[in-house]
Amino acid sequence: MIRAVVSDFGGVLTTPLIGSFAAFQDRTGVSGESLGRALQTIAERDGAHPLFELETGRLTEAEFLERVAAALEPELGHPPEMHRFREIYFDALDPNEPMVELMRELRDRGLRMALLTNNVREWEPLWRSMLPIDEIFELVVDSGFVGMRKPEPGIYELTLERLGDGIAAPDCLFVDDVEVNVEAARELGMAAVHFRDNEQAIAEIHELLSG
Ligand SMILES: [Mg+2]
Repeated sequence: MIRAVVSDFGGVLTTPLIGSFAAFQDRTGVSGESLGRALQTIAERDGAHPLFELETGRLTEAEFLERVAAALEPELGHPPEMHRFREIYFDALDPNEPMVELMRELRDRGLRMALLTNNVREWEPLWRSMLPIDEIFELVVDSGFVGMRKPEPGIYELTLERLGDGIAAPDCLFVDDVEVNVEAARELGMAAVHFRDNEQAIAEIHELLSG
């Protein structure tokens, strides 16, 4: 029987993240592909993926943006305005109301509620102000503060440990829009839903909870 829900934030409780990258391209002329290439260049040079380093707090937001700007400059012929990245990114995101409503309903049903997010330490005030996080979730595990990120098993295990009350992986329902994160949760024994759209995810969540 499911006793706890472990939900992702970006792309599940918000509108799709792709909208943020589209807005970034509109406002700066830097495409998602260029951004991806720049990240790859840095990853090969430094031996660590800069996004993973950012999400585990090993790189600050400022260091990350500086490195990405430097990697983009040769292709663009000028340094891009990376300092506006977070503003553009959050302006383009909205709460995904049907999923937020569902989470509220599950909390009211007495399920234990945890939020497990790969995020940026410096962005905490921004994403938290989008939704009544603490009203719905009793526990937040944020990669930026714990030095691990999904799909590392350790961050799922830490979430279980912090939920306490003997809650183990098979007692949990995990929801995420990134497939590797869903696979990692299943490997640990959680019931998991890969969020693609509201209709599909909400139906699958109801089915798993009634099973
Ligand atoms: Mg996500």
